[in-house]
Amino acid sequence: MSVSVAAAGKIVWLIGIVTWYVVRYPFERRAKRARIVSHRRSNLDRFALVSGLLGLAIVPGFYLLTGFPKAADYPTRGWAIVLGALIFAIAVWFFRRTHKRLGRNWSVTLEIRERHELISDGPYALIRHPMYTSFLLMGLGQAFLLSNWIAGPAGIVGFAVLFFARVDKEERMMLEIFGAQYRDYMGRTKRIIPYLY
Ligand code: SAH
Repeated sequence: MSVSVAAAGKIVWLIGIVTWYVVRYPFERRAKRARIVSHRRSNLDRFALVSGLLGLAIVPGFYLLTGFPKAADYPTRGWAIVLGALIFAIAVWFFRRTHKRLGRNWSVTLEIRERHELISDGPYALIRHPMYTSFLLMGLGQAFLLSNWIAGPAGIVGFAVLFFARVDKEERMMLEIFGAQYRDYMGRTKRIIPYLY
């Protein structure tokens, strides 16, 4: 029984991550057509991206393929899989909403595009970094879906490194470009959790 529940968690995670990429791909193609006029690419930001990718995709993907690290497995609970599936589904849904709203202003790294527009409504009305919120939710979902002390929490760790290595630089870049408009926006929003943080 426990073995098949664990397999269900892995399958749900796999479906979730594939769906995530299917959602991302068309936005990635479209956004890349808009010219970049300013950027804050750095080794720190590259490291941030790699951490996110490792924690949310490579470590859990390797675990699915090989079962490594097997010694870190723990018994799976049915409720954890249901909860994880729910959180992951909400994460991908919210990710799609933020991507749709951000549109051509999106970049995988810190960049300003030609005719860049400051978005402050829809998913951006209460928090400044809803796409990062969706990564946090994906990480949470992963922790419930994979009953392994390394592969499960890896997503939250990867998210945390990505977020904290990047957020100050991103906000500084937005302040430089949008000035008072972004300062006002910061005054009425939180970073990733509505009303809290
Ligand atoms: N931090 C945001 C966006 C992530 S994509 C989120 O979590 O939803 C990163 C790029 O988005 C940055 O290079 C920046 O140019 C752009 N960006 C960030 N916040 C934005 C906003 N409110 N409006 C428009 N572009 C934004």
